[in-house]
Amino acid sequence: MDFNAEDANIFESALSDDSSRSRVYIETYGCQMNVNDSEVVASILIASGYAITSNLNDADVILINTCSIRENAETRVFGRIDLFGQVKKSKPSVLVGVLGCMAERLKDQLLEGKKVVDLVVGPDAYRELPVLLRAAENGQKGINVLLSREETYADISPVRLDKNGVSAFVSIMRGCNNMCSYCVVPYTRGAERSRDPHTIVGEVQELVNSGYREVTLLGQNVNSYHWEEQKGLVKHKISFSDLLEMVALVDPRLRVRFSTSHPKDLTNEVLYTMAMYENICNHIHLPVQSGSTRILHLMNRRYTREDYLDRIDAIRSIIPDCSISTDIITGFCTETELDHDMTLSLMREVGFDFAYMFKYSERPNTKAARQLADDVPEDVKTRRLTEIIELQGKLSEQSKKNDVGKRFEVLIEGESKKSKDEFFGRTSQNKVVVFPKENHKIGEFVFVEVTDCTPATLIGHIVEE
Ligand code: SAM
Ligand code: SF4
Repeated sequence: MDFNAEDANIFESALSDDSSRSRVYIETYGCQMNVNDSEVVASILIASGYAITSNLNDADVILINTCSIRENAETRVFGRIDLFGQVKKSKPSVLVGVLGCMAERLKDQLLEGKKVVDLVVGPDAYRELPVLLRAAENGQKGINVLLSREETYADISPVRLDKNGVSAFVSIMRGCNNMCSYCVVPYTRGAERSRDPHTIVGEVQELVNSGYREVTLLGQNVNSYHWEEQKGLVKHKISFSDLLEMVALVDPRLRVRFSTSHPKDLTNEVLYTMAMYENICNHIHLPVQSGSTRILHLMNRRYTREDYLDRIDAIRSIIPDCSISTDIITGFCTETELDHDMTLSLMREVGFDFAYMFKYSERPNTKAARQLADDVPEDVKTRRLTEIIELQGKLSEQSKKNDVGKRFEVLIEGESKKSKDEFFGRTSQNKVVVFPKENHKIGEFVFVEVTDCTPATLIGHIVEE
């Protein structure tokens, strides 16, 4: 599961062959929330008479769903917009729209620029897309970047564009209230709001009915999910652990994952719920960002190194075979060699199974950009990142070696990229395993004995339960 991949996720879809419909090509950058948002966008557009195409050259409308989390994410999108400009030169009727976080942050620059962009739509305004597209077809610029305190797209069934038919993302909340000092998300995606749990359970049930075997509940800080509803005279509160239980009970054969947990909000109650239901996967993504309490304070993360390690102890004692992954930012403002060493020592102490690691990228108008100097030189950031990546490489390898000789239940997700005789799937702990197909099918659960590993993958063969 790639939480922070900035790789283009170019959806393949042949949802309609109807050539009378205008065809929309959607390209998605950034986090899983964006992938799921593109599915909501596709659903809204199909309901308005558009068709989705996976072929850029075939498109009447090109939409790019963007990410602002780091500067390089934005640079890549500008590169793509330039390319769409070339497409537009050969086919001037094509409309180009920028969706998501960059639309929110850079609307003026996008519209002025090289006159490629016709449409700029923020993450809370996708219901307006058909109207804005019509305006753009009539030569006006279609703009809506208003953020909402209510919008959760609760009633929209996202059109699954990934074609694997096995695992799907389900957004349970939008926005973020945490205001980590380095982060642009609260500005581009607005305030936190939770989605009606009954619509979440309904969407999960629909997925099960269509053959899906795994859902990942998505939010920037899923542990702060909360919902209140009146039941007669009583106010009924639903927390994240209640929601997790409701989703786990939809079907015992449905795997349930979630992301992202914030260390300050991960309660023991959630851990006990995970331990109680076998179908809730034993994996927690718990971004630490830094091992230095001083830096965590400057980042406004609202936990200390000791608080984080206390959560790790709780995970280990309540769910002994739980894997733990994390996010790390290196080179944040004022970070010293001592702070850096504390990050390395925390990584060793926890023994993360996996990590996404980034150099700090100053984002305009965030608290850090306004109040702190981005004072760690680029070469120092690069060297520290290299050290962090090298250490994580060893930890990830060790985590895989520890699995050799063990048996795991694996959900078959697809054909291995390297061999058409092999499948790949994941363990409950979110580790990828490759094994010979035998007579099995994608979407089935099988038991796999791990016999070997590479730094990235477990290797095994199917065994009887
Ligand atoms: N909400 C999640 C959380 O708090 O952990 C994830 C948010 S963000 C989409 C994913 C990761 O990007 C963060 O955990 C952080 O490590 C990284 N990130 C966010 N802002 C960044 C910045 N300005 N520079 C470098 N990395 C950043
Ligand atoms: Fe950004 Fe912090 Fe919210 Fe995550 S929790 S989205 S890092 S502000």
